[in-house]
Amino acid sequence: MNDIYNKIRNNDYTVIAGPCAVENKEMILSIARLAKAAGADVLRGGAYKMRTCVKDFQGLGKSGLKMLHDAGKEFNMPVISEITDIYDIDLFFDLVDIIQVGTRNMYNYPLLKALAKTKKAILLKRGMSATINEFLRACEYIEESGNNKIILCERGIRSFDTVTRNVLDVGAIAVLKGMCRYPVFADPSHACGRADIVSNLAYASAACGADGVMIEVHEDINAALSDASQAISIEELSTIIKKSKQIKKIVKK
Ligand code: PEP
Ligand code: MN
Repeated sequence: MNDIYNKIRNNDYTVIAGPCAVENKEMILSIARLAKAAGADVLRGGAYKMRTCVKDFQGLGKSGLKMLHDAGKEFNMPVISEITDIYDIDLFFDLVDIIQVGTRNMYNYPLLKALAKTKKAILLKRGMSATINEFLRACEYIEESGNNKIILCERGIRSFDTVTRNVLDVGAIAVLKGMCRYPVFADPSHACGRADIVSNLAYASAACGADGVMIEVHEDINAALSDASQAISIEELSTIIKKSKQIKKIVKK
């Protein structure tokens, strides 16, 4: 799966989908099968979760990462998961195709520099309070250490409103496309934190030229162990993929 970065570069639109967190083996296998059938290209699943509340489900750690890896192998899908600690680099090197750096670690420059040395594709999420320039400067930490297999991901920024979890900065997607040569993705799930508008935000980001999207899905949306409020069904994912690709085509013309 080494060529996943080139595939993303050559694709018009790439879809990353999966649960917020890997909960058990059966669940990730089942979601992988359904997500692939719905048209997803890459399987996501958190194993090390950066939860605001320490009492919340923290992820299955190494065994969760292994389950994600095995599910990807079984269904021939590249996998992505978030790294939270520099000491886990070897583990991620062995088990995932794309290493995700979450919003809370965008400013963790030692982590970015160390990750760059793996030469793996890296999906860098925008810090929740980071300016566009700070986002691009963080990206340079990866570049300077010799890795330009970078995917930028707009995942919503903090604002004063509390009705949505964050505010998806679609203007940033459009502007980043002109400011750098890397694929720019959107994560509508974490941007709004509510399932009812994930589709709208996915469409808005495709209209702003996003090269792909990362969406959280669950088979039983009310039972998700993390981020249940923003999980959408596989049926909805399938519709979003079809419509987003059409929107991307229209705006590209
Ligand atoms: C995630 O994608 O699982 C995640 C925690 O995202 P973010 O870092 O954007 O909050
Ligand atoms: Mn989540």
